[in-house]
Amino acid sequence: MPALAAKAHQHGTAQLDIVVDASRVSIVFDTPLDNLLGFERAPRTDAERQQADAAVAVLRDAGRLFRIDPAAGCTLAKVELASAALKLGDGGDVPATGDHADLEGRFDFDCKQGARAAHVEVGLFEAFKSLRRLELQVVTPKGQMGATLVRPASRVALVR
Ligand SMILES: [Zn+2]
Repeated sequence: MPALAAKAHQHGTAQLDIVVDASRVSIVFDTPLDNLLGFERAPRTDAERQQADAAVAVLRDAGRLFRIDPAAGCTLAKVELASAALKLGDGGDVPATGDHADLEGRFDFDCKQGARAAHVEVGLFEAFKSLRRLELQVVTPKGQMGATLVRPASRVALVR
């Protein structure tokens, strides 16, 4: 896979990488925790714990969060979440710095005909109100492209 640009931590913005091949679509979502929770540390109160659990539940329900073009025949195979602040996974590949914290999610879909996926409907703006902008990297058998998705848009084109 080509090297992707270094990821910046900027509230309101997140990175979304989508890799399409014949039998699989893989999506990696890398976001400041602030975009999901409004805070960037371990939850301290019951209300904050409930908020964190709700955000994690939305991310684990990835078949609803990322609706891949039905022509590709994709089904959700695996979800991996990593966030040191939420004690998920291995804590992500970037150590927490200062007062900030991130979450990385990886979502793998098995597809009958991945190359036929022309678009993905992304439900992240609907689910997370603080998120305003997604920096996209899309890699398909035909090539690689960057794009930006700004609220309230939800459709990512995989071919053009
Ligand atoms: Zn932050």
